[in-house]
Amino acid sequence: MMNTTHPSQNTRVLIVDDELATQVLLKSTLDEAGYETATTFNAEEALACVADFDPSIAIVDIRLPGGMDGLELCHQLRQKHGVDVVVITGFSSEHGYVEAADSGASDFIVKPIHIEELLLRCQRVIDARHTRQARDRSMRELRRLAVTDTLTGLYTSGHLFKQLKAEVGRSQRYSRTVSICMLDVDSFKSINDTYGHQEGDRALVFLANTIRAVMRESDDAYRYGGEEFVLVLPETDGAAALLVAERLRAAVQASDVVTDSGAQFRLSISIGVAQCESEEDDKSLLKRADMAMYEAKGMGRNQVFLAPTVDRVE
Ligand code: GH3
Ligand code: MG
Ligand code: MG
Repeated sequence: MMNTTHPSQNTRVLIVDDELATQVLLKSTLDEAGYETATTFNAEEALACVADFDPSIAIVDIRLPGGMDGLELCHQLRQKHGVDVVVITGFSSEHGYVEAADSGASDFIVKPIHIEELLLRCQRVIDARHTRQARDRSMRELRRLAVTDTLTGLYTSGHLFKQLKAEVGRSQRYSRTVSICMLDVDSFKSINDTYGHQEGDRALVFLANTIRAVMRESDDAYRYGGEEFVLVLPETDGAAALLVAERLRAAVQASDVVTDSGAQFRLSISIGVAQCESEEDDKSLLKRADMAMYEAKGMGRNQVFLAPTVDRVE
């Protein structure tokens, strides 16, 4: 069966024309077809009403009084507000189709206006808009999936390498601080051996959820390897990152992981923390965090350890 929802429903159309007769014709035609409409006489009024009215499309006379003509308005509506614009031109207008298209117009109507043509063109513009929006949503979702680890929902290690390089670069350029935490589950082999690989996976999901709960909005978490994770903490020095790491370590320890069969166990993690130094690159930062994590393991596991500065490592 065909989709019975008419494209005019819930679609807001902004009408911009300085001739009252044209405005009235457009408004009555579109209202009757089920669109929600607003009318304005010039570009300035149109721009002032965009934020509140939030139109999907605008029908704009190419010739408008005042400082801004229809072409410039078309450009602004398209670029700044994502509105599709149908331009109305006179039959012998000094502005041609090419100029209107260059300004981002989605379609044209030539005066005198024929009602059927007007409705058809509006419908086509809306259909194309919906198709474009659906495609944009799929592209965004694909991009998100490409950088998301399927088990935990955290970012992938591939994404880490890209993002950390960028974050370290930014911190160097603007003399900002950034720290990272490298964490590894303690004795995970024995969890797999005792409860099975599936329950091991469940424990990793529990850990990822705990990480998300402890992190701030500006922090990012990545699954670095099997049961190794990295947190990137912008605008955070080593001492503050150590506190985050300690909070995470304690939170992981505080709850049982419950298996399918009802058995319960606790996870513990070891965390290495490193603050990026001036002129240090991403690889060196990761390496210092990794070494700090092994220090934490060496101290008996279920510990956090802050990496010494670069010159003390070398
Ligand atoms: P420790 O880190 O405390 O030294 O001991 P460990 O037992 O955790 O040792 P290690 O980090 O070397 O081993 C990690 C184990 O994690 C080995 C591997 O079988 C398991 N593992 C890695 N990825 C996954 C995964 O995706 N799911 C499950 N269930 N296990 C995994
Ligand atoms: Mg490991
Ligand atoms: Mg481990």
